[in-house]
Amino acid sequence: MAQSIGLNENALVAITRDSLSALRAALFREVGPSAAALLQEAGFAGGPALYAAFGRWLSSRRLPAPESLAAGDFSSRASEFFRDIGWGSVSVGELASVMTLDSSDWAEGDPDHPLDFPGCYYSAGAFAEFFGRVAGEPVAVMEVECRSMGAERCRFLVGATDIMQRVYDAMGEGVAYDQAVAAGTLPRSDVAFQRRRVEWIREQVAVDQHLAVPRQHDGALGRQGVKIRSV
Ligand SMILES: [Zn+2]
Repeated sequence: MAQSIGLNENALVAITRDSLSALRAALFREVGPSAAALLQEAGFAGGPALYAAFGRWLSSRRLPAPESLAAGDFSSRASEFFRDIGWGSVSVGELASVMTLDSSDWAEGDPDHPLDFPGCYYSAGAFAEFFGRVAGEPVAVMEVECRSMGAERCRFLVGATDIMQRVYDAMGEGVAYDQAVAAGTLPRSDVAFQRRRVEWIREQVAVDQHLAVPRQHDGALGRQGVKIRSV
């Protein structure tokens, strides 16, 4: 059995799942759908330390840095790491040109406090920072299935920002996420251009996930909205 991770030397604190769930519920109760962006902001802020902790976790096992791991190793090690730090098991896969992260026991998903929309906003923010560092370029993350809305799993899509934006836009037109991803034969944007836009993109990711709240999406764009529930 692998050794557990040291919290102090990795700038981590242990909080209970109950506290996390209560914090989310309180935020939505007090500030409404804006809570999504607030939770994502917290996730963004914690992403760099999380990535550094993963690097140390790998190093302690005499494994290479995250960005140097072979693809097959990356999937199994990332899963082991997130389980080790209490977030849950995660399996890494592919769906056309985007990466999928699936978890049937993710800590932020809470079937006991049901939502009408995917609710793991903190995780989406943290993943965007974490996997952006792995990829060496900005990525966008969107949760499309969630245990909080009765799904068997939480599923996050991780992809290049231009691709994810188009996936989101297609979903806004009523296309199911898997079809939207499959249709995504898209030209790659200039990387330097992406880097200049990183702050804007972060905001955009937050807005996108914020828009996954149906009423908010309808009001903002004046159209039907992303039908996450029907996927
Ligand atoms: Zn979830």
